[in-house]
Amino acid sequence: MPQSVIMLGGGIIGLSCAFEAALRGYRVIVLEAGNFGGQASGAAAGMLAPYSENTDQPDAFFRLCLQSLNLYKPWVEKVEAYSGMSTDWVRSGSLNVFRHEADLFPLWSRIRWHNEWGAKAELVEGAALRELEPGLSHEITAALYCPEESHIYAPGLVAALETACRKLGVKLYDYAGELLDLAFHEASGVTVRMAGIPAISADRIVICSGAWSGALERWLNISLPIHPIRGQICSYESMPDDLRHMIFSSQAYWVNKPMGRIVCGASEDVAGFDSSVTDRGIERLIRASERWLPHLTDKNTAHRWAGLRPATMDGLPLIGSVEGKPSAIMASGHYRNGILLSPVTAMLACDLLDGRTESSLITAFSPNRFTALRSV
Ligand SMILES: Cc1cc2nc3c(=O)[nH]c(=O)nc-3n(C[C@H](O)[C@H](O)[C@H](O)COP(=O)(O)OP(=O)(O)OC[C@H]3O[C@@H](n4cnc5c(N)ncnc54)[C@H](O)[C@@H]3O)c2cc1C
Repeated sequence: MPQSVIMLGGGIIGLSCAFEAALRGYRVIVLEAGNFGGQASGAAAGMLAPYSENTDQPDAFFRLCLQSLNLYKPWVEKVEAYSGMSTDWVRSGSLNVFRHEADLFPLWSRIRWHNEWGAKAELVEGAALRELEPGLSHEITAALYCPEESHIYAPGLVAALETACRKLGVKLYDYAGELLDLAFHEASGVTVRMAGIPAISADRIVICSGAWSGALERWLNISLPIHPIRGQICSYESMPDDLRHMIFSSQAYWVNKPMGRIVCGASEDVAGFDSSVTDRGIERLIRASERWLPHLTDKNTAHRWAGLRPATMDGLPLIGSVEGKPSAIMASGHYRNGILLSPVTAMLACDLLDGRTESSLITAFSPNRFTALRSV
């Protein structure tokens, strides 16, 4: 049985895996090139919305997302108990809003299969919709209401996970610098060399380096087509009643945070590893806000920021053991849903550490699936 494990990356995925592994009795080390949660995880809107994010069919990805939503409440309670910090988890429910009657036809099959999977979704129109969410534009004729979806303050969850990990004795190294070498030992085990710290060895390594995970191809000897997709996002000052639900439209989404900010996101730009904010990106969000939530018209944005989502070639995460490298597990490529998927990813990665065979839940997310394509 392995006793020690390195998490390579200190975003939400690395810290969640570290927390779960420490609870299961492993000696855990987190190596973070920069600061904990300083990349995609600190930029996220924190929506936990498996139904709104999966509109077509109950495929393996939907089931993974739903399993994670179902784990969230007890997971957050554990993180809060160990850290003594709040994560602002709110089950607000969501409204997917529409302007045209023609948009409503595909909704019936969606409502049917969502409800088979516990969504309790319903179509709301007219006065009932205005009562539910008074601030919506009158152009909106109907909405799909899903009461089960929730949100969390992502930077708060990251901070709470970091504190919880410290309390459990996890060794956390931030600003560890560039990865110089990953040496797998013949029998088992791994040694990691990074520019800013002495070399560190452990029995296992979990790769949770977000959009940067593709750089590990040379050491893992598998194909890892992961690329960054920039998300630009902004916020407005708000009161609790300004927006009661998460709102999803065809152009943007909005979520009202308990600390008094409506967060509006997000662009999907291909800009390499550039995480800067552009006027063009934010102006598109401002125009959408004015159109769908008129009370935001003429309000200044309070903050503007951006992050790099880790996207794979097929849009699905990479969770599983690395072929040919028995000491390595991948937990990367969570693209738009890494905050939602963090509890289930931590469970699955730690089940692999424990030596349990891969659950049917993750067959579709094998990190080796692109290597097979390369050799065709
Ligand atoms: C604008 C925006 C909005 C989003 N909204 C949502 C949302 O509402 N709900 C949701 O579920 N998801 C959302 N996401 C997606 C979510 O943020 C990501 O899927 C998630 O944060 C990925 O987590 P991660 O830990 O894999 O990556 P990151 O948070 O990027 O963490 C990876 C870490 O690894 C470090 N690293 C990289 N290379 C190395 C190395 N070689 N050695 C050591 N460390 C390394 C990096 O410095 C980084 O800190 C959003 C993303 C963005 C950008």
